[in-house]
Amino acid sequence: MTKAKMSRFTRALLLSVIAASFALSPAAYGQSSWQLLARDIFEELININTTDSVGSTTKAAEAMAARLKAAGFPREDVQVLGPNPRKGNLVARLRGTGSHKPLLLLAHLDVVEANREDWSFEPFKFFEKDGFFYGRGTSDVKDMAAIWIANLIRFKQEGFKPDRDIIVALTADEEGGTANGVKWLLKNDRPMIEAEDCFNEGGGGLIKNGKYLLNEVQASEKLYLSFNLEVKNRGGHSSLPTRDNAIYHLAEGLTRLARFDFPVHFDEITRAYFERFAALETGQIAADMRAVILTPPDSAAVARLSQIPYYNAMMRTTCVATRLTGGHADNALPQSARAVVNCRILPGESADDVERTLIKVLADKQITVTRIAEPTPSPASPLKPEIMSAIEQLTAQMWPGVPAVPTMSTGATDGLHLRNAGIPTYGISGIFEDIDDVRAHGKDERLGVKSFFEGQEFLYRLVKAVSKLK
Ligand SMILES: [Zn+2]
Repeated sequence: MTKAKMSRFTRALLLSVIAASFALSPAAYGQSSWQLLARDIFEELININTTDSVGSTTKAAEAMAARLKAAGFPREDVQVLGPNPRKGNLVARLRGTGSHKPLLLLAHLDVVEANREDWSFEPFKFFEKDGFFYGRGTSDVKDMAAIWIANLIRFKQEGFKPDRDIIVALTADEEGGTANGVKWLLKNDRPMIEAEDCFNEGGGGLIKNGKYLLNEVQASEKLYLSFNLEVKNRGGHSSLPTRDNAIYHLAEGLTRLARFDFPVHFDEITRAYFERFAALETGQIAADMRAVILTPPDSAAVARLSQIPYYNAMMRTTCVATRLTGGHADNALPQSARAVVNCRILPGESADDVERTLIKVLADKQITVTRIAEPTPSPASPLKPEIMSAIEQLTAQMWPGVPAVPTMSTGATDGLHLRNAGIPTYGISGIFEDIDDVRAHGKDERLGVKSFFEGQEFLYRLVKAVSKLK
């Protein structure tokens, strides 16, 4: 567009946007007013400390509630509620036509602790530098919380009428603490967050060496279960040793476990993961990825891929020794030896079966095996065609050549409580981060400015695509 052809209105608009970006952001990315709104909300959220120790998710929830009410949401559709004054959750609703069950957009408000002395700067003070937003929660996960609120306001102000209610829930105690917001809401006011599907954290885009690799859709999570292993013995004087030694019993059992692999098992999600990831890999690894999902899997390919910890963890249940203690004196035979074995169980496999296998592999009746805490299993979310195709199309539109890939988390998120409650949950953000520079939970947490705004746009289009009137 030449200057002459630019209407006075367009020029005025452009100038005001440029002026606004200079006012709010010294770097001036030529941001739209919706981007400026999202950035402003993001800044407000980061500046509110929401740690378990001294923070308050209620403060953050109330700040977001005030934003929504100011944008015209009726009082009854914006609620702050929770079990105690410091652990409030926000639940807000944009009314649709009601022809489908609601869509739930979830993000936790709490963040991991951050000590000023560990960081290079104040962790609870948002700032932008050299293309990054800095502060605790910038990547886990106040970015999504800010985007959900900014986009909900945008839908409302654009007059968007979805075919279902769109619910935003910003919750407490995902990272720690005893007042998990998702569990609390499910138990105390389930109708408020009842939904057909949920979008949550846990997915996202991956960047490697500056190149956009793929857009992950997290649809399942492994189950966490730790066991206590213990051998007791009458002990005695170490000058009179016997073969029957608590430490030897335990050590030999653990050595058998070290050599053991659980069988590989693929479900809809991990099969799709290897299928699509094969297209991004080259050579032997690509060929192996295609060979492991054959029925039956190619055992040589399984053996090779198992050398890579992440692929190994995607293919099978794992149990690994993580702690070891024993004995009580340098000159005494040990009266006890103890180890912790941490298992990550594939969705759909049973904790009881894993326990039975563990006992069989340890193969020593003197080793007692007990669970440290009861696990919370969660089913995988089905890869629904309407959701997957929307994600695939939008990913192709915004980042041509970058595939959308279903994944299973080897860790855990709040998605598990919703999946257990029968609400299929997908970890999806369209926010790309460098896989070699993960700072969530760590020092100097940050998120690329470009990634933040791309995620905002992607989630705006995605929510619209799955909830527009058909
Ligand atoms: Zn998180």
